[in-house]
Amino acid sequence: MNIELINICKSFAGKLVLQDISFQEEVHSIAVIGPSGGGKSTLLRVIGGLLNPDSGEIKIDGIKIDFNEKALQLYRRNIGFVFQAKGLFEHLTGMENMMLPLIHSFGMNKYDAEKAGDDLLKRFGLSDEKNKYPYQLSGGQQQRIAIARAIAVKPKLLLLDEPTSALDPEYTAEVLDMLGELQNEGLKTIIVTHEMGFAKNACEKVMFLVNNQIIESGKSNEIFNAPKSPELMAFLNKIL
Ligand code: ADP
Ligand code: MG
Repeated sequence: MNIELINICKSFAGKLVLQDISFQEEVHSIAVIGPSGGGKSTLLRVIGGLLNPDSGEIKIDGIKIDFNEKALQLYRRNIGFVFQAKGLFEHLTGMENMMLPLIHSFGMNKYDAEKAGDDLLKRFGLSDEKNKYPYQLSGGQQQRIAIARAIAVKPKLLLLDEPTSALDPEYTAEVLDMLGELQNEGLKTIIVTHEMGFAKNACEKVMFLVNNQIIESGKSNEIFNAPKSPELMAFLNKIL
């Protein structure tokens, strides 16, 4: 997938949060890393069509995103989202959570949606969880269902914003293993993460965002083994 960001700018109440972000790569998986407040979540929301930039363009496989609401609604159908936590509907079971986007976005009937949901839950070892509500599930199970639900509608691109940050550490691996497996099968992903092992070993490219700007980006092994900017060196020293 060719992802092109051209001079993206975004401010909130006069405060610059994305400053002239440009990037172009042919890429399967990108990890977005950097300190808090750097603009990572904002950039992900802009790429996902949830937030309009003040200026700049985004092209996916050469096609420019049209930022009017009608066009964005269509665009968002091709994008899956997974957030830090609390992404599942609390009043619905695992299976009902799976079925909802299939019925509402895909227009599947209930029977087909249940079959598709069942297949995915089975595949990821979550069949025993299908009739449970989110509060009855571990954080890891909740996030795995959130990912399964996001891919059920076959998005062209899956965006994840710190999907393991709110988890107890023992659940991080099961979520990242599932993601790594999906990436290996060809799912295109952009993930904001503080899990540097995953960024380095499972993601093809890394984008390092500090103070509203991309300071450095490139192949993940080069980013981690041969950082060029003092900002990235300092960040890696602190976090690794
Ligand atoms: P990160 O994900 O790297 O921690 P964010 O993109 O969440 O960074 O935030 C970057 C900056 O933008 C922060 O200073 C944050 O307070 C500000 N910000 C984010 N969203 C909004 C918003 N909706 N309104 C006002 N300020 C915001
Ligand atoms: Mg964030």
